[in-house]
Amino acid sequence: MIFLPGLFLSVFNTQMFVAPISKYHKAFQSILIYYKPIFNLVFPATCIHCRRELLPEEPYVCWCCEAGFKHTGFENQKVPTPLDQLFWGRALVNQTFALLYFQKGSATQSILHELKYGHKPQLGIIMGRKIAEAFFLNSRGQTIDVLIPVPTHHKKKFVRGYNQSEKIAQGISKVTNIPIDNGFIFKRKQTESQTKKTKAERWSNVSGGFRQGAQNENKYKHIAIVDDVITTGATLEALIKEIKQVYPMIEISIFAVAMAK
Ligand SMILES: [Zn+2]
Repeated sequence: MIFLPGLFLSVFNTQMFVAPISKYHKAFQSILIYYKPIFNLVFPATCIHCRRELLPEEPYVCWCCEAGFKHTGFENQKVPTPLDQLFWGRALVNQTFALLYFQKGSATQSILHELKYGHKPQLGIIMGRKIAEAFFLNSRGQTIDVLIPVPTHHKKKFVRGYNQSEKIAQGISKVTNIPIDNGFIFKRKQTESQTKKTKAERWSNVSGGFRQGAQNENKYKHIAIVDDVITTGATLEALIKEIKQVYPMIEISIFAVAMAK
């Protein structure tokens, strides 16, 4: 059910055409790039939230919807933020950052939805860049060794074509040059017993979920987990506890596009 709308949308998304085609299709790519202006004329890009036709300098979201973003302003907050407080007494975290507040019916919700189901990997990279430009502006995050995107099951990745957290991490990495490690953690195959558990509990049932070799030596002192949206924090809490069991001394920070208010 998810796959079909995804395919349908991709037909109308020229960036989907141009970016991921393999090197064996360079000629085809050139033709697509050549005809892109004509394609855009026939199928103009529209704002993913209000559906108004976009200007060339507006990627995915029109300026009007972007102006309505509810920024958290955490980058300028000296006292503990609501996101810091969300993990108090639950998991020990170093720094936390969410760029936007998530509200139902908002442009932020449209962004997160399109990033997950709309075959728009580039949107993740754009949001990742925005996170980095806000958070790292005040010389914070200097000790972070690596970005760890929250893993998704390989079946979901296959259907969606990408892991949205990985795309957000790529955007952060482009600005900060902090490397990404996709192999540090991975989601185990969903067993029958796990299907009865909640999404968060599944993390705590992934003991040994680290790749072979990773348990022998820890090359990182400070990792930053990258997620798309934080609601209750239960998934991250379970994931952090799992990591701390293997690496008790490791420092963990959290980055997300949005958090629920
Ligand atoms: Zn709009």
